[in-house]
Amino acid sequence: ARDLLSVRDLSTRFFTEQGQVNAVESVSFDVREGEILGIVGESGSGKSVTALSLIDLVESPGRVTSGELWYRDPDLAAEFPDAADGDAVDLRELPERVRRALRGPSFSTIFQDPMSSFNPSLTVGEQIAEAVEVQRRAQANPRSTRSRTQGYGLGSYLLDGLVPGRDYTDPESHDRAVELLEQVGIPDPAQRADQYPHEFSGGMLQRAMIAQALAGEPDLLIADEPTTALDVTIQAQILELLREIQAERDMSVVLITHDLGVIARMSDRVCVMYAGEVVERGTLEDIFEDSVHPYTRGLVGSIPDLEDPAPRLQPIEGSVPSLLDSEMGDRCYFADRCPKAMEACLDHPPEFDAAGDEHAARCVLAEREYSEAAALPDGFF
Ligand code: SF4
Ligand code: MG
Repeated sequence: ARDLLSVRDLSTRFFTEQGQVNAVESVSFDVREGEILGIVGESGSGKSVTALSLIDLVESPGRVTSGELWYRDPDLAAEFPDAADGDAVDLRELPERVRRALRGPSFSTIFQDPMSSFNPSLTVGEQIAEAVEVQRRAQANPRSTRSRTQGYGLGSYLLDGLVPGRDYTDPESHDRAVELLEQVGIPDPAQRADQYPHEFSGGMLQRAMIAQALAGEPDLLIADEPTTALDVTIQAQILELLREIQAERDMSVVLITHDLGVIARMSDRVCVMYAGEVVERGTLEDIFEDSVHPYTRGLVGSIPDLEDPAPRLQPIEGSVPSLLDSEMGDRCYFADRCPKAMEACLDHPPEFDAAGDEHAARCVLAEREYSEAAALPDGFF
């Protein structure tokens, strides 16, 4: 499959009173069309900030400071040749208004807490109809440079005219909202549409949030810990729903979680993050069966194979380093916790090195031993 989004050397910093915090450090990965890319890491590893950086939602005092975000969209590439390379555009080179307009129709998000995505004083149906309406108006606008830069899309519609709870009563948008609620498995969707968020259970509201995220028919759905707050049974149902929806629409999904069990059952490919960096990436098999980086090995622990997953975050001694620029130093950030650390690890930050066709790790072991990586002994970690 082709790449939908190629992230290159993305860095995001927070400029705090304590100093510069390197929350995301030179992160690179690709999201292919129709795949689920899992991003896994402990809390504070930079995975959520990475997600926000993709869609331009990092808030002050944070800022994306460098990197490229190549998004495949032939129309945009034709409209913005200065930002284009072939069929892809570098989102960071587009005018802010255009980037904002891509949220909804191109990129959509779901988060851990569905309450935060809904206004408590409007019905769920009204809010989903709003998302439908925004998308409908955006599509009605011709895709010319003029409309893109002067009036296209979500941002401008929200600025220029839609009044919450009033303009979304368009019967077509309302019907579409009910249809979306039905597609995400909400019983009695027509009645449910007229209810308020507090009348929904956690799992049902999570479904409604997914319906809202689908209103713009996005190419890419970014799901940040979508099931973390739910109990195990509901969690399994929501994951199943995400899988179905992804497959039906052949949509790409970036799934962010600290939970390796979720990664194992959902992802096609995986990025492992540590201290703001991607330290290993590969297919599900690469990560669960042939990982190279000692951090990944620690996470995966003693899971025998994917057929029999009982994945659990294995505790690794020590703690995640401070991401303050002044304290980070020129070394492997995992060195203090790494059972395989050696001189070379303290000399310089390790490069990303290939460990297979799709497999790479930021570790001197990949640099030096990758040809034997598949044969590393069982007791390696
Ligand atoms: Fe461990 Fe060295 Fe690899 Fe870092 S570079 S993970 S310290 S072996
Ligand atoms: Mg997070």
